[in-house]
Amino acid sequence: MLQLDSHPVGHHFLQIPGPSPVPDRILRAMSLPTIDHRGPEFGALGLKVLEGLKGIFKTKSPVVIYPASGTGAWEAALCNTMSVGDRVLMYETGHFASLWTQMARRLGLEVEIVASQGNDETLPQAPNWRRGVDAELIAGRLRADTQHAIKAVCVVHNETSTGTTSDIAAVRAVIDASQHPALLLVDSISGLACADYRHDEWGVDVTISGSQKGLMLPPGMSFNAVSARAIEAGKSARLPRSFWAWDDIIELNQTGYWPYTPNTNLLYGLSECLDMLHAEGLEHVFARHQRWAAAVRAAVNAWGLPIQCADPKVYSPVLTGVITPPEVNADALRKLIYERFDMSLGTGLGKLKGRMFRIGHLGNSNDLTLVATVAGCEMGLKLMHVPVRSSGVQAAMAYFAAHPGGLAA
Ligand code: PLP
Repeated sequence: MLQLDSHPVGHHFLQIPGPSPVPDRILRAMSLPTIDHRGPEFGALGLKVLEGLKGIFKTKSPVVIYPASGTGAWEAALCNTMSVGDRVLMYETGHFASLWTQMARRLGLEVEIVASQGNDETLPQAPNWRRGVDAELIAGRLRADTQHAIKAVCVVHNETSTGTTSDIAAVRAVIDASQHPALLLVDSISGLACADYRHDEWGVDVTISGSQKGLMLPPGMSFNAVSARAIEAGKSARLPRSFWAWDDIIELNQTGYWPYTPNTNLLYGLSECLDMLHAEGLEHVFARHQRWAAAVRAAVNAWGLPIQCADPKVYSPVLTGVITPPEVNADALRKLIYERFDMSLGTGLGKLKGRMFRIGHLGNSNDLTLVATVAGCEMGLKLMHVPVRSSGVQAAMAYFAAHPGGLAA
């Protein structure tokens, strides 16, 4: 039998950068009985969540909801707007950007990768995975594309594998300045409802997101926020699509229903989450993530370990990547922390395997949870005999003491 009782007492510290811990309030909402998805009550739920989501994406355009993980919503964004052989410019910020690139190739698109250049002594195997998007590099490619062969620019807003949050407005600005007609597709799977995000104001054509990060829901639901231009592009896009096709879904959504069976109980959870986020106010949500991130970085700096993101301007409010000394396997450290302190930390992905770990500080958390998280890491580092300069716990506590949050904010 599947062992799910390995955390018998206390609460497990789920400090990975998503799925993030689900608030009890949302768990309770999801435990309501499943209703007829074509019955009279369902339409009101559908309309509520579809309207409420627009406020989170900051858009007046439709937001399409899929009963799928974020990967599905990546595919939906591409196959609703592109045709086989279309050229797309994809910025390599880290592992998730690379996976999206791989998908685009599999779908038959011509992928042009753009990445930051330069060496990195700390992480020579992934020198371009320590920074955000450099919009000027995109500008150069677009200016050179006088025939407008590039049909879309694809960027990851919050690169979950590294902990960088890129400036999407800057990307829009260079597309506009080059007078290039390319669509702007943005993955904000881990950025949404943690970091400032503005679909309409930043002129994004498709924003892709998922349920299991800032929205504090279990995995299994994902989103495409779509602009009028994206819908228009879809009319001539020829990549095959059926399940992912926006048109049927958007049409039926007008009455609060879906063309197929939606994930009713996750939608109960989404409805609850929207109530929570709207009651708190998005500006407050973003501010608390920034505070948490700053406290965790204060701890990492106190330890004297390098932060995966090498550019303070694009530090992520969602997670912090910590590079371990070359002789310390970060996954062995994670294993020890899991076994000794009942805490899950994010693994190093792709080229970063074994070289770093990720501390998630998103969603349903608070100052004391993060002080305990830092304590778990610090105890693990000491048990692994990793030399640390000073106490990260003291540094995080000092940060929180000096920057009031919680009920006092
Ligand atoms: N993009 C980003 C930035 C992610 O963080 C993730 C998952 O963590 C994905 C895409 C893939 O989403 P999923 O695992 O839900 O399919």
